[in-house]
Amino acid sequence: QVQGALLELTLSLETLQAVKGHMLEAMAKGLSRQTHAQATVRMLPTYICSTPDGTEKGDFLVVELRQRHVRTLWVTLPGDGNQSPQLKERLFDMLEDITQGKGEALFDFIARCLCQFLEGVCPGEPQQRLPLGFVFPFSCRQTRLDQGELIAWSKGFHCSEVEGQDVVQLLQAAIDKQERYHVDVVALMNNTVGTMMSCSVEGMPCEVGLVIDMGTNSCFMAEGWHVETVEETSGRMCVNTEWGFFGDDGALSDVLTPYDQCVDQESAKPGEKRFEKLIGGLYLGEIVRHVLAKLAAERALFGGGSIPILGTKDMFKTQQVLEIIDDEAGLATARSTLQALGLAPSEQDCCHVQQVCRAVVTRAAGLCAAGLAAILSHMCQSRELKQLKANVGVDGAVYRGHARFGEILQRITKLLAPECLATLVPSADGGGRGAAVVTAVALRLAAQRREVDRLLAPLRLSPADLQRVQALMRREMELGLNQDTNAQSSVRMLPTYVRGTPDGTERGDFLALDLGGTNFRVLVVRVGQDGVHMASEIYAIPLAVMQGTGEALFDHIIDCIVDFQQKHGLTGQVLPLGFTFSFPCQQLGLDKAVLLSWTKGFSASGCVGKDVVQMLREAAQRKQHFGLDVVAVVNDTVGTMMSCGYDDPSCEIGLIVGTGTNACYMEEMQNVGTAEGDQGRMCINMEWGAFGDNGCLDDIFTDFDRLVDEKTINPGKQRFEKLISGMYLGEIVRYVLLALVEKHILFRGKPSPKLQTRDIFQTKFLSTIEIDGLALRQVRGVLHDLELDASFEDSVLVREVCQAVSLRAAQLCAAGLAAVVEKMRESRGLAQLAVTVGVDGTLYKMHPRFSQHLQQTLQDLAPNCTVTFLQSEDGSGKGAALVAAVHCRVAQAQGLP
Ligand code: ADP
Ligand code: MG
Repeated sequence: QVQGALLELTLSLETLQAVKGHMLEAMAKGLSRQTHAQATVRMLPTYICSTPDGTEKGDFLVVELRQRHVRTLWVTLPGDGNQSPQLKERLFDMLEDITQGKGEALFDFIARCLCQFLEGVCPGEPQQRLPLGFVFPFSCRQTRLDQGELIAWSKGFHCSEVEGQDVVQLLQAAIDKQERYHVDVVALMNNTVGTMMSCSVEGMPCEVGLVIDMGTNSCFMAEGWHVETVEETSGRMCVNTEWGFFGDDGALSDVLTPYDQCVDQESAKPGEKRFEKLIGGLYLGEIVRHVLAKLAAERALFGGGSIPILGTKDMFKTQQVLEIIDDEAGLATARSTLQALGLAPSEQDCCHVQQVCRAVVTRAAGLCAAGLAAILSHMCQSRELKQLKANVGVDGAVYRGHARFGEILQRITKLLAPECLATLVPSADGGGRGAAVVTAVALRLAAQRREVDRLLAPLRLSPADLQRVQALMRREMELGLNQDTNAQSSVRMLPTYVRGTPDGTERGDFLALDLGGTNFRVLVVRVGQDGVHMASEIYAIPLAVMQGTGEALFDHIIDCIVDFQQKHGLTGQVLPLGFTFSFPCQQLGLDKAVLLSWTKGFSASGCVGKDVVQMLREAAQRKQHFGLDVVAVVNDTVGTMMSCGYDDPSCEIGLIVGTGTNACYMEEMQNVGTAEGDQGRMCINMEWGAFGDNGCLDDIFTDFDRLVDEKTINPGKQRFEKLISGMYLGEIVRYVLLALVEKHILFRGKPSPKLQTRDIFQTKFLSTIEIDGLALRQVRGVLHDLELDASFEDSVLVREVCQAVSLRAAQLCAAGLAAVVEKMRESRGLAQLAVTVGVDGTLYKMHPRFSQHLQQTLQDLAPNCTVTFLQSEDGSGKGAALVAAVHCRVAQAQGLP
């Protein structure tokens, strides 16, 4: 019979594995936004987002509410790795009627205890306000570190008018009412969190807290994006599992014995906290009592017969259970304990009682291990690690009561979560020291947050800022289109002589040249019934040619065309040619473009101020190549618009966000004062990268932008571009990071020589770092590749900086586009405009959020326009051919040669 009872209490490893599995499910349920409300394991966010880094320093107050006491502490943290804090403390007895009375009386009592304590430790007036951490060991729905509503009282407390209230506010009000000390309640926490925090030391963070006391609970540092009940978390947050409630939905039915059912029925709240009732110190003695009562009734113990004393609730204490399981003194304790109850146990009775006690404690430790293994596996998985090493801060009377508990806990945890290496660290005063550390970390983070916000504030643009940029762009556009004011505008608004977008009836074979992107290319493009087909060759342009004479450059281009025609069997054919020439040009006709300046490393002599088409024709003459029919020279922006226009006729805007940024759009001829004619439309190459070069954006520029600008080859030029495009975003981020390091907020203020290197932080890193849901480990990996030794908090901060910089870029781009679409809508006299933007550029295409932010902001700024974005495929090649094709179609229709 005794063996039968022991068997009932023994859990196999498979059963514990199943418990772990159920716990993992319950945890996932508690974290998810959809299922959180029904979850048994509530996974409450604590708003503690950082473990101590050892720099915490200063004086901190702690108030810990206990079962029958209020404990007050004055903790001085030395800032040297938390090794030796100084503590002054006092324990105040609390009468039971306070725990049953009015809430106000409870908090007044706590405030009076605090004042009395302070009078003892600092008789004079303290110089500054004292930060206080409040250890409140009840379930709270926290919304900030210093804000939390009590969900429900437990542990025998029943004060009125507290449930549903913010207990921080109640305590703060009570302290203020004393009018004695200036105290700020800055952190609310339970003792589990304090336990975890008290075990963290420099270089060895403790990321799990475990309490096995009268009740049981746990907490751990979860990945922020897993905690769906909190908006906007990056990094990590400590989650209070409240796992005592695990099993309240029946998940533990395979484990519960008739004894557990009896304990539950006799408890204050039957059906609630089923997991806790298997583990917590309030219950272990009771479980043992019910087992003994049943065995006695079955005449298997104490010589049989009814033993009334075993029917008395709480006559068997958990402390006694823990003493009885001891190998040496255990049997003697069993005997004396039983004798004290008026029983006359035999030797064998004592043995059996010890076995029962051991079974109950072993089971509790095993279940605790199943829970801990679930937490560890969850952490390991969500951090995408193969192996997790974690320190687990542990506290509580049951854990401390006997070494056996910890041994079992450690051993079973290892079996259930073999991929995790957990070290149990006994907590030294989680409620006191740990709470002071939480408070200190909170203050450090709050100060840091203020500093980060202050630093990033200039990069954050308000809707009003963006509307202003939009209005300025609009003004510059008008100025640029007007012949008389064109010179005042920073936006050149160059006429392109492209008068129409494709309508789909274009047919024929065309040649295209693409000069000014990353490569020089020659293409043949066939525009047919079944779409556009292309073949192309890439040709190198040797540096000597790029920087030699103009003649040599254009001769080289002709050589490449001849080679291309030979390779593709086109020799002797005269195909209309479109020339993508992506340098700023003053265009005088579709096939007449005067180079204004070279960029991107080109410096061929004798070209600036000359018509590039003319130069190409002259080179053809020199080379005796007579089959060249250049009909159009186009900018890459225009090519992008045209190539998208072929697929979508409402594409009347071209946008580039790559190395640089630029835009073009179809403007009414009557608005274009810089080109002849009033009929129809013409594509305008805005050259908007130069927006702001006349000073109109000066108040948008930050110190970071000025630093970036100063170091470029064209300081003071292309100011708008330098806020937006791929060539600069990484540099902006780098300067912000340098400023954070200087403020000792990043990389612990350690100077990082690598970060001093120009262009070390490439724009493509922003794309990687900002990918949604990317594990912090990977962000850290990116930074490590740059030889930046980043902690997790550093990684979070770097990501925030990247987000601020790329968001601003997208928003400014949207402000520019908003000016364009609104102007188009107005000049066409429409209430609503539907238009498509053809886009090219690696930043736009590759960045995970850029396009989304661009489109959202554009919608906000230009609500009367419905704007669709279409990514262009090879805008510069296909686009140039299509410009030529449209030209030929129109010319044919007009009967021109
Ligand atoms: P171009 O503008 O010269 O025609 P691209 O459109 O390919 O060339 O843009 C190149 C620029 O895109 C580079 O300067 C780089 O800053 C940026 N870039 C490259 N890869 C990425 C990426 N993954 N995410 C964001 N930007 C990138
Ligand atoms: Mg390009």
